[in-house]
Amino acid sequence: MLVVTTVAAVQERRDELARTGKRLAFVPTMGALHEGHLALVRRGRELTDEVWASVFVNPTQFGPSEDLASYPRDLERDRALLEGGGVALLFAPSTKEIYPRPSATVIDVPELTAGLCGVHRPGHFRGVALVAAKLLNIVRPHVAVFGAKDWQQAAVIRRMVEDLAVPVQIEVHPTVREEAGLARSSRNAYLSPEERRTATVLSRALSEAAHAVRRGERQGAALERILAAHVGREPGARLQYAAAVDPDTLQPVTTVEGPVLLALAVHVGFTRLIDNLLTEGI
Ligand code: AMP
Repeated sequence: MLVVTTVAAVQERRDELARTGKRLAFVPTMGALHEGHLALVRRGRELTDEVWASVFVNPTQFGPSEDLASYPRDLERDRALLEGGGVALLFAPSTKEIYPRPSATVIDVPELTAGLCGVHRPGHFRGVALVAAKLLNIVRPHVAVFGAKDWQQAAVIRRMVEDLAVPVQIEVHPTVREEAGLARSSRNAYLSPEERRTATVLSRALSEAAHAVRRGERQGAALERILAAHVGREPGARLQYAAAVDPDTLQPVTTVEGPVLLALAVHVGFTRLIDNLLTEGI
């Protein structure tokens, strides 16, 4: 696996690959890799001839009081995991390489970011959209693979790509979970063993609400109450939001008439965790 740190080196390799006619998949990450990231790599390999990945902890998507400084970083371990996963090229740029000067351009998708995480992380999705656009322009993949765990992020990127006619196919892979249901996340590294157990409340609450839909619950507000009540019963867990939304528009669902996305953000100790579950509705 080739490891490159500059935009110029990526573009040079990309031009070489173009001459072979091979199709390229790209998996952007912030590192501290886990089985979820590796599943995206495998999906990329299924869909194309070659997979490239990036590891870049993007400062523009972190709020001033968020965990940019303490975000887990272990490039050597990430390098080994990606190489084991069959990735052909790892792009691991410095912040200066991606932002030689602060971006004067803003990419905003307000329709999709007014709710859910957007309420609690102002500016977050602008940072996500900006870095995604930039990385897609640098790498020029045929397919870019994202995870359903960050559903709102994938929705924003999908819409940005559509609106700006970025020539890439966006592929979203289902959330990879631990045995106890906890969605794999780089931020799980912050959790103590006790907090890890507490953190399973997210997937338990989502399952309970999905079960209620199957039993015939049709009120979005009632589903949100089920989620909130389940989290509320778990000492050590603090709810940030519980939502039942349309999976495409991310608008709150009043009456369930089709697929519903159940979504949660919960603090466990100092760690903020998110999870979601798509139910088919009726
Ligand atoms: P991150 O490194 O957290 O920015 O995530 C990089 C990519 O991996 C994003 O597209 C995430 O949605 C995806 N991802 C993170 N965790 C999981 C998971 N448990 N299952 C599937 N995809 C994931």
